[in-house]
Amino acid sequence: MIANFGYTDGSGEYYIMLDTDKCNGCGACVPACRAHILELRDNEYAPLAATKIVVVKDANRKRIKYDCAPCKPASAARALRCVTACKPGAIAHSW
Ligand code: SF4
Ligand code: SF4
Repeated sequence: MIANFGYTDGSGEYYIMLDTDKCNGCGACVPACRAHILELRDNEYAPLAATKIVVVKDANRKRIKYDCAPCKPASAARALRCVTACKPGAIAHSW
């Protein structure tokens, strides 16, 4: 499934989307994120899988537009650090 972390406000939709079927809990995206908004947690989407999964920290879910802003490349052709770090391609952004 796709887990959406973020919010919609008057200026747009700000979501980090995680494909929970692709995330293998490797953790590579966590240190790649200079804003430190990602963390590994028990996989609540598939508890029997006994694997960790990455989530956006609770405290950051309502402000990711601002947390991610310094990290967003000026050119859309350049990939985000978290996206580049994720070899299975589990992370996408809505903006
Ligand atoms: S875009 Fe940058 S700041 Fe936002 S989650 Fe990805 S690596 Fe972290
Ligand atoms: S790098 Fe990708 S597969 Fe690894 S924990 Fe992060 S989202 Fe999951």
